[in-house]
Amino acid sequence: MTKGTLSKEEIIERALAKVSLFTQKRKKTSLANHDKVLRAFQDCRIDQASFAGSSGYGYGDHGRDQLDQLFAQVFGGEDALVRSQFLSGTHTLSVALSGLLSPAKRLVSFTGPPYDTLRQVIGSQGQDPHSLISWGIDYEEIDLALSLEDKIKKLRPDVDLVLLQRSRGYDIRPSLTTKELGQMISAVRTKAPQATILVDNCYGEFVEEKEPLELGADIIVGSLIKNPGGGLATSGGYVCGRKDLVEKISSRFSAPGIGKEVGAVEGSQLRLLYQGFYLAPHMVGEALKGAVYLASMMEDLGYQVSPGPEDTRTDTVQAISFDDPQALVSFVQTIQANSPVDAYAKPLPWPMPGYEDQVIMAAGTFVAGATSELTADGPLRAPYTVFVQGGLSFDYNKLAMDQILDKLFIQRR
Ligand SMILES: *Cc1c(COP(=O)(O)O)cnc(C)c1O
Repeated sequence: MTKGTLSKEEIIERALAKVSLFTQKRKKTSLANHDKVLRAFQDCRIDQASFAGSSGYGYGDHGRDQLDQLFAQVFGGEDALVRSQFLSGTHTLSVALSGLLSPAKRLVSFTGPPYDTLRQVIGSQGQDPHSLISWGIDYEEIDLALSLEDKIKKLRPDVDLVLLQRSRGYDIRPSLTTKELGQMISAVRTKAPQATILVDNCYGEFVEEKEPLELGADIIVGSLIKNPGGGLATSGGYVCGRKDLVEKISSRFSAPGIGKEVGAVEGSQLRLLYQGFYLAPHMVGEALKGAVYLASMMEDLGYQVSPGPEDTRTDTVQAISFDDPQALVSFVQTIQANSPVDAYAKPLPWPMPGYEDQVIMAAGTFVAGATSELTADGPLRAPYTVFVQGGLSFDYNKLAMDQILDKLFIQRR
């Protein structure tokens, strides 16, 4: 696949043409997502008072409750719990899983091994006494690669909670299209009608027109420093879906008997959560354009990319495999050097908490580690794949990516 004859200018031109084609094809989706968000702001009667925030216990924080309603309307749920006190996506997922499960319940991951950090939450590798497995949860994984028919055969009808992951995470598996997700949800529902279906929605929000709840899922979970934070949220996570399930998770989030009623959000933060959510459909579009550009460029240089520049995109993640640890490290360092914050710093591989292998990460971001901003990271394991995501403006992404191109061209000489 080496197109050794293409010049740098030709590679850029081809990449820009693919971005333009992608933007054209995605116009309807982008507009629909903007429309959905704008209407929800109006329907929820968001006004200046919504941004006031609260302190202490945060009783009767109307703006915080309206934010829950806003997310619920946009994502198609009955209720939501949107909180800056969620520490990360992993924390939100951990609270959701432990809120919905209790000892002796059965949990099945229907899309193969879940995201790296969740493996320790569930406990398939560790002996952490707080993991779900040590807690007496029965856990099984069903291989993503199997046909839907074979997957369903393996699913026990008495399963209590089925976990589906929309995005690829740190795996070189394809992310699920909403069509595939919808088919999986219907099949699971038929085989195990009483099971709760939870979708890990990280990196998926606003990429396509539909969200998992509209496809029949019961509950979705995501991070606010990814897509729905629009680059402005400084921390947090959300769960959204059936009211009774949001209530259970709220009891675990705060305390039984307290649920959603307590939890102060400072006004300055609350406004950013609103404004970030308002901007999220746009930011996701910019990040996607950057991903298409990068995919085209790296493919033209002969690297393995997933998804391909013309493939349907269902999350904001772009994977590139180098088959060489040094090339992965060098790529990540170039992204860092072309970031607005900490550009002078040189990232090195380190044993990041929650991950099995060493990880190298470029995150020259305003919100530390936020992957709604341009970031690149990869575990140091074969085939040395880097995962690139985010970017608040396509042109900023392009500037960084063109530096990568320059560097790789010099190396080829
Ligand atoms: C990012 C991510 C998580 C975990 O989120 P953190 O904020 O990194 O803890 C979980 N699942 C998927 C699919 C993700 O992409």
